[in-house]
Amino acid sequence: MKYVRFLHNNEMKYGALEKNDLVVEFEKGYGSDSTPHRHKFKELKLLSPCQPSKIVAVGLNYSDHAKELNMALPSEPVLFIKPGTSVVGPGDNIIYPQSSKQLDYEAEIAAVIRKTCRRVSVENAPDYILGYTCFNDITARDLQNKDGQWTRAKSFDTFSPIGPWIVSGLDTANLKIELKLNGQVKQDSSTANLIFKIPMLVSFISQVMTLLPGDVVTTGTPAGVGPMNVGDTVEVTVEGIGTLKNIIKGELNA
Ligand code: ZN
Repeated sequence: MKYVRFLHNNEMKYGALEKNDLVVEFEKGYGSDSTPHRHKFKELKLLSPCQPSKIVAVGLNYSDHAKELNMALPSEPVLFIKPGTSVVGPGDNIIYPQSSKQLDYEAEIAAVIRKTCRRVSVENAPDYILGYTCFNDITARDLQNKDGQWTRAKSFDTFSPIGPWIVSGLDTANLKIELKLNGQVKQDSSTANLIFKIPMLVSFISQVMTLLPGDVVTTGTPAGVGPMNVGDTVEVTVEGIGTLKNIIKGELNA
C-alpha cells in the first residue's frame, strides 16, 4: 500500500493509492475509514506524507560510511532529534540558512510509526511501523562541527524533506539507496549495509521515549555525503519507494 497526504481544495487529506492511479480519501488519518471520494493521483499536490511530533535520527549507521570516515563501528545507536517544524514535503524548497557555509545532503530510509510505541521488543517492532519513505537529513555541517551539540545544525526549518509517500509491507533488508545532486550520483549503497536494522532501532528508541503515530525514525546515511549550493536539485531514491526531490533556495530569495 502507498499512503499519501495531499491538498484538495486547499484542505489537507490523507489517502492511499488504489488501482488505475486513483487515490482513496480517508475520513481522518491513515487507518481511519475510507470515504467514497476518489482523486486522480496525477492532479494532487502531495504534502509530506506525515506530520511527526519528532524525528528520531541515528548517527553513523552504515558500514560503508564508517569505513569512509575511518571510524570504528558503534556498539549501540547514537540518537538525535529533529523537530517536527523542520519537515517539508516532496517538491518543496530547502532553505540554505545565511548562518551556514556548508549545507550537506544525507540520503536515508525512514520508518513512519503507525501506533503508539513504548518499550516494544525487536520482534514486535514491525507491527508498530506503518511503512517506509525517503528522507534527506539536511545538515549544516559547519555548525555541527562548531557546536558539538547537533541541535542547531540539524533543526532549521526545511531541513527534513520527507516523502513522496509511505510504502507499507516493504522488505527493507536489501534496498538500493541513492542520492543524486543535479543528476549526478553522489551516494549509492544498500540498506544491507545498515549496522543497526530498522526493528532494532524502533525497539531501542522505544525504551527511551514514546513514539507516536506519524513519528519518523530515520536510519542514518551511507557513504558519499557532501555539500550542496543554492540552485541545486537533490534527489533521494530508495528502491521500492520512489524519489524525493527538492531544490535548494537561498534564504533571501525564498
Ligand atoms: Zn543523518
